[in-house]
Amino acid sequence: DLGYMTSEKAYRVVLAGDAAVGKSSFLLRLCKNEFRGNSSATLGVDFQMKTLVVDGEPTLLQLWDTAGQERFRSIAKSYFRRADGVLLLYDVTCEQSFLNVREWVDMIEDVSQDDIPIMLVGNKCDLREQALQDSVTCVPTSFGEKLAMTYNALFCETSAKDGSNVIEAVLHLAREMTKQV
Ligand code: GDP
Repeated sequence: DLGYMTSEKAYRVVLAGDAAVGKSSFLLRLCKNEFRGNSSATLGVDFQMKTLVVDGEPTLLQLWDTAGQERFRSIAKSYFRRADGVLLLYDVTCEQSFLNVREWVDMIEDVSQDDIPIMLVGNKCDLREQALQDSVTCVPTSFGEKLAMTYNALFCETSAKDGSNVIEAVLHLAREMTKQV
């Protein structure tokens, strides 16, 4: 693989989470530093590369966006099977996407070989203030923190729109993955 060609260490990271929580947008922000207001749904699996310096070491991440897993569940499973780490996203302004995190964790634990690190990501935090004003039920930060703790997962809140915490989330996960080897 490309990690071998560039003599960097390479890790496979798979993005998980319900449709429309912002997985494609998260990747677009991370890899191209862009945001698109009305991104269309990804079909199947989309693939991106990103090199980050983790504790002084250039580290190549292969990031797999498993969009459309409702229809492509078996494909998605084959990616989780080979994952070194998972970014599991929910939308802080969509309670149901948070309630579904449990199903995702069960699937990941069921399919992946080892105890791989999971970063639980509450995305769209830029929308929370407005959503609360509009009486939309939002997921409080403390709920995300608590859930992450019960799964022994890492946690952070991000916005793919304004970019806050996106790189930090991935760096934190990368540190955990590099520790495992
Ligand atoms: P995916 O199905 O999980 O890949 O979700 P998308 O990346 O396609 O995002 C779904 C919708 O939410 C799109 O209209 C995005 O522009 C929007 N979106 C994604 N992330 C954010 C975010 O952090 N903040 C805001 N305000 N919108 C977002």
